[in-house]
Amino acid sequence: MESKKSSAVENGVIMWNFLLKELDNGVLVQIFKHLDIFESTSAIQRFTEALTKASTVQPVWETLDFSMLKSEFVKTPSEPFVWVNSGSDNTLYNLLFGALKLSQGKIKTLIFHYNLYLTNDQFIHMAVRCPLVRRLVFVSWNRIKRMGIRKAIRGWKDLESMTMPGIYNPRYVFEEISKHCKNFRELKVMGCIGIQFAYALTRCLPNLKVLSLRCSGLSKRALILILNKLKHLEVLNISHSCHVELVPDPYYEIEEYKFTGDIDPIIIEKASRLREFHTCIKESCIMCKRTRDDDGLVRWFKYEEGIWKHDEVSSLAL
Ligand SMILES: [Zn+2]
Repeated sequence: MESKKSSAVENGVIMWNFLLKELDNGVLVQIFKHLDIFESTSAIQRFTEALTKASTVQPVWETLDFSMLKSEFVKTPSEPFVWVNSGSDNTLYNLLFGALKLSQGKIKTLIFHYNLYLTNDQFIHMAVRCPLVRRLVFVSWNRIKRMGIRKAIRGWKDLESMTMPGIYNPRYVFEEISKHCKNFRELKVMGCIGIQFAYALTRCLPNLKVLSLRCSGLSKRALILILNKLKHLEVLNISHSCHVELVPDPYYEIEEYKFTGDIDPIIIEKASRLREFHTCIKESCIMCKRTRDDDGLVRWFKYEEGIWKHDEVSSLAL
């Protein structure tokens, strides 16, 4: 036991020494410039010393946390809807590959900032080097191909929990999880949830236990389908979400989307069987207002740093 711990501690120390010695100082500065907590380059030295010290108390290598690292990017009108600065890509490449090499495949939790756009190759390489992953928090899928997602999930036999974006048709994702991840139990979605999403979820993952759809635009039909079909669901979080209804517009003779904070009584009745049902009913809630103002797709960058990590379900919070 003692020698196991010593070896883990040794790995932690080796890793930080590696980052300090092997990565170019310019690269380190670029990396840490993205982390607002560093006011100067001398703070980097203090940071790495503190982490080296921390690693002697507890091994740090079961979690790879990039939740404070963002890409330098601009939005584009066509796919993949972002253009990422090559310097930013290279910084991530160096840090990611250095960390993966030293982690020796032991990482169980992977966390990425919502604006950290991995390339498809980076994502696949990471997946192959982390076969023991149990939890993935990754919502910036813009540059990841369907095949990349499929390949990653096929290798993650122990995957239990995933935080993903609200994509239009996630069937291919859920099919792979259903086939390869027998212990999968909890899902968090950041983005709008429509009926297509709900169909795919309920057909492929009927045994899901925990679902968080907080701060999202939710279709009433989708929510009712989820509550009807996910018989094993124990925990549902729809806090600060807005509810989307199609209402007729007599003037233009079309249907329009209407965003409302009110939860339909049918949903409350159906959710009463759950062990935990999280909602927010405060009129004055600022987060509910933000979700409505952003049309059900919260623009997290406008708000307090780190607020996107919150969740009323403790196992899904960061
Ligand atoms: Zn609220």
